[in-house]
Amino acid sequence: MKIGLEVHVGLPTKTKLFCRCKAYATEPNTAICPICTGLPGAKPMLNKKALELSVDISNALNCTIEKETSFVRKVYFYPDLPKSFQITQKDMPVGHSGTLKINNKVIGIRRIQLEEDPAKILREDNYTLIDYNRSGQPLVEIVTEPDITSEDELRVFMNELKSILYYLGVDVDQDIKADLNISLSDSRVEIKNVTGLKNLIDAAKYEIQRQEKLIKEKQKISQETRSYSEAKLSTISSREKESDEEYGFIFEPDLTTYSLQSIKPKEPVYVSEIAKEYSKKYHVNESQLLEIISFDKTSLKIIQSFAGKYEMKSILNAILSFKRYGKSELKEKFIEKAIKLIEKGSYLDGEVISALEKGKEININNNVVNTDEIDSEIRSIINKNKQLLEDYKTNKKAMNSVIGMVLKKFKTNPRIISERLEYILSNEFKV
Ligand SMILES: [Zn+2]
Repeated sequence: MKIGLEVHVGLPTKTKLFCRCKAYATEPNTAICPICTGLPGAKPMLNKKALELSVDISNALNCTIEKETSFVRKVYFYPDLPKSFQITQKDMPVGHSGTLKINNKVIGIRRIQLEEDPAKILREDNYTLIDYNRSGQPLVEIVTEPDITSEDELRVFMNELKSILYYLGVDVDQDIKADLNISLSDSRVEIKNVTGLKNLIDAAKYEIQRQEKLIKEKQKISQETRSYSEAKLSTISSREKESDEEYGFIFEPDLTTYSLQSIKPKEPVYVSEIAKEYSKKYHVNESQLLEIISFDKTSLKIIQSFAGKYEMKSILNAILSFKRYGKSELKEKFIEKAIKLIEKGSYLDGEVISALEKGKEININNNVVNTDEIDSEIRSIINKNKQLLEDYKTNKKAMNSVIGMVLKKFKTNPRIISERLEYILSNEFKV
């Protein structure tokens, strides 16, 4: 199986790629000008910030960055493109021949290019609306080699890519759009314009199953373009594949070539490498650490500044407790207080976190417990009384007796036992 991707990432610049209109405006057709609506004689000017971001991304994905980059016109006729061409890149993209490492495997990055988004088309029953606000929004297109060989790898790759982009200041989240190429045989099937990570994985899953079935039935898989339907959870044949040759490409005479040599790229952050290193060094769970830091600059900063000073387990515990109960943003000074409480044996529940946030003094005596001991007592009681789990499904109070039983053994705050019980029930017994 071979899966390749073309990922489209909107860049967070203030203005559009070739004009000074606001890049992201909500009221339709309010951020437009002669350049982004393609009026005769209007000349584009390249957005410097967009160029710099595309260099940051190319550098983070280990691409070769040549001395210069230039643009072409991709000519096609469609209402979303008033000039009849899209300004994009072809032979001199910002970056090419890069790599991204996932789980000890290398995924090739073929090219990274800058281009403008066309306008947005909204089709209604008997009329069509066009919003030119989107016309000229800056996009980076990241094209991979067909090196991804499973749905799972696709998920890991996309998460890693999104995290790298997040740390470069390009937070894409649900807006990420991609075209998927999936071939289980000699025929390459392309699925166009899938939005969001969940849909991307679902589309891949469906398409892999569809092709597997055809192969099993000894039917031919046709080379085609399909689209993904979120409502039907399936892919549908949309049109015959267009090749690059069917578009007209000409050099963009209104733009010059741009030097890339003077741009100093931003240092990339690879969270999976950090998670691997820290989990080895400080004996903590790698996937838990990765989940905490993948899209959270503040947590990463706190972890890096406290590493070595406190137990990593306590640092992570403090961060997770704040994320669970905290009302405000994570702050280093609160986390440090929380770590100290944890290291004294205190359990951080909602009340302790709220007191910490308000700067109140905390009487930790009530909360000094060994949760491992409490957890194992809870597990053993439930395992001895399996009927409790059945009762609990219809009556949430059925577990109250467990709290009483644990309290007999440990003189502690019942709220903590109740919380641990809830955690164990949902995470271990899945009820
Ligand atoms: Zn404009």
